[in-house]
Amino acid sequence: MTSLARAFALFFFALPLWAIPSSASGEGARDGPNLKLEGGKWFDGESFIDAEWYVVGGRLTGQEPEKVDATVHLDGKFILPPLADAHNHDAQNIWSASRSIDKNLSAGVFYSAQMCANPAKVSEFKGLLGRPNTLDVTFTGACISSSDGHPLGLAMRDQPDVTPETLREGWTVVDTLEDIERVWPGIAEGRPDLIKLILVNSEHYEKNRHDTAMFGFNGLDPSLIAPLVERAHRDGIRVVVHTDSAADFEVAVSAGADIIGHLPGYRFARNMEPADYRISDATIAEAAKRDTTVMTTTGVARYYLQAKPEHTDVLQSIQIDNLRRLYDAGAQLVIGSDQFAGTAVDEILYLHTLGVVPNTELINMAVTDTPKLLFPEREIGRFEEGAEASLIAYSANPLTDLTTLRSPSLIMKQGNLLNIGISE
Ligand SMILES: [Zn+2]
Repeated sequence: MTSLARAFALFFFALPLWAIPSSASGEGARDGPNLKLEGGKWFDGESFIDAEWYVVGGRLTGQEPEKVDATVHLDGKFILPPLADAHNHDAQNIWSASRSIDKNLSAGVFYSAQMCANPAKVSEFKGLLGRPNTLDVTFTGACISSSDGHPLGLAMRDQPDVTPETLREGWTVVDTLEDIERVWPGIAEGRPDLIKLILVNSEHYEKNRHDTAMFGFNGLDPSLIAPLVERAHRDGIRVVVHTDSAADFEVAVSAGADIIGHLPGYRFARNMEPADYRISDATIAEAAKRDTTVMTTTGVARYYLQAKPEHTDVLQSIQIDNLRRLYDAGAQLVIGSDQFAGTAVDEILYLHTLGVVPNTELINMAVTDTPKLLFPEREIGRFEEGAEASLIAYSANPLTDLTTLRSPSLIMKQGNLLNIGISE
């Protein structure tokens, strides 16, 4: 047994699941053992450097404590802060949440935003999450669409025996300015950090809402986005906008949305042309100026391309063109996978195939920018004095081969070694 495995076994058995204190606020295991983390190469935003850290009270310190309970030999491993996924739906109910914990942790993903959660449902299982051995999740406090809007179409397909009226109870329906006033008190009462607004091909809003084939696949009236953003900002709530076409992206940016939920070009909708997904230079400049954050979700295109492989070249050329101009303009990009069965690692590897963002920047987006977007108050995303003692160690250098991200060799969350998805 290696010393690493010994330390691992010791802590796994010493810290049974669920016996670990809650850390919804990222507090970590205050009474956990004092650890010495020896011999690792630590990511500093550019490269990996030799360093030695200690863990005291679930946090990193450079100062040796009086008593060290155990030494973790990192033996030249490459160490990253944990990854985040800013866009998923894999922990929106108790059964998917319980499955998603291991899936994410074993991929080194500790932080997740759930983009269309129903607050009443979430309150039933939220206590499972935000612990040193589970996933830290931020939920949208409302997911707002039109009465004929996405995700109704998907819900009707999945549950054909349920009426649209019942299905719509899963999110918030807004068709008019008066509706905003009606639903707002209920949303504000939950004091959410984030809400999500849904736009789908808003340039054809008037036409599509009268097209019965589009029933369930539309989005909000684009003229309601600015009033909704204004209402949310008055209450200190950040706004994510689900965007499909380039026109949706423009509506969201000019309305002052904080975050764009999808980079346009992950699919081509019915009756739309590839050119409808090319974001204008002026909108890109505006997004950079306003510091609008863009969730990538590029890899979700693979589902569309499975059905329409003949669109691969043109679709990817649009993704590359949008991404390159956003990246060159200095727009804030974050990793969002939107892959129910996948993780942030799948998104990173797909982004890599597009060849726009250098590996170092992809890693920085995943381990620093995205965690900071989801949990701005927490000391995560960097190895520094007082930061949460959360890390993922790899046997090879992920900067030179991103597929290394698929096989962590050690996972520590807030000072606890986790016995999950480890490859030797
Ligand atoms: Zn989504």
